[in-house]
Amino acid sequence: MSDGNVTVFHVFVAASITAVATGFGALPFLFVEKFDNKWLGIGNAMAAGLMFGASVGLVYEGFTTEGVTYSYLRVIAGASLGGILVYLSQKFLNNRDDEYSIGKVQGADAIKMLMIVGIMTIHSFAEGIGVGVSFGDSNTFGAFISIAIAIHNIPEGLAISLILIPRGTSVRKAALWSIFSSLPQPLMAIPAFLFVLLFKEFLPFGLGLAAGAMFWMVFKELIPEAKEELGIKQIYAIMTITAAAMILFQFVIEG
Ligand SMILES: [Zn+2]
Repeated sequence: MSDGNVTVFHVFVAASITAVATGFGALPFLFVEKFDNKWLGIGNAMAAGLMFGASVGLVYEGFTTEGVTYSYLRVIAGASLGGILVYLSQKFLNNRDDEYSIGKVQGADAIKMLMIVGIMTIHSFAEGIGVGVSFGDSNTFGAFISIAIAIHNIPEGLAISLILIPRGTSVRKAALWSIFSSLPQPLMAIPAFLFVLLFKEFLPFGLGLAAGAMFWMVFKELIPEAKEELGIKQIYAIMTITAAAMILFQFVIEG
C-alpha cells in the first residue's frame, strides 16, 4: 500500500499542520477568562481515545506491511522499544517534576512553566516519528495519523494554556508556546519518513515504535491527567467512543 507520490514537502506540511493545531488549544481563552477544568479532563480522555485508536491502526498497518518478512515480529520489537523509550524519558523528567502535573500547578514560577512546555515538547518527538513512518507506509495512512495527532494536540495546547494564561501570559503567547511544544513533530517526521522510505524493512519496526510510544502515553500520561478531573467510568466511556470512531475512520479512508 504505497502510492509513491508522497514527498518530503508533503510530510513537512502535514506535520506542521499538526503542530499549529496545538495552538488552537489557547483559543477558548479569547472568549472565556476562566475555564472549568472538567473540560481539560474531557479533552484528555478524548485525546487518549484518539491515540489508542491510532496505535491500533499503527499495529495493524505494521502487521500487514507488504514485502517485509516477519513484519509482526518487527512491530512487536518496535513497540517494546517505543514503550521503553517513553518510560525512560518520563522517568528522567519525573525525577524533577512531581508537582508539575498539568493543569494543577499552583503559584508556578517561570521555571515550572518552562518545565511543562519542556515535557510536552519531549513527548511530541514520538508523535513526529509516528507521522513520518506513517507517510512512509502510504499517503492515506499518513493523513490518518496526522489527523489523529492534530486533533489530540488541541487539548495539549489547552493544558499548556491553562497553566500559562492564569499567570499572565497573553493568549497569543500561550498559543505560540503550545505550537512550540509540537515543533518536534515536523522536525522528526522528515528523518523518520526518509528512513523508512530508504530502508523499507524498518517500516513495521517504525510503525511499532510509534504505536508503543503512543500506547504508553495513553496509560501513563493522558488517562492519569483525565483522572484528575473526571471519574474513571466517564473516561473509559469517552475513550471507547473516540477510539471506535478513530478505527472506523481508518477503515473508511483506506477503503
Ligand atoms: Zn501528545
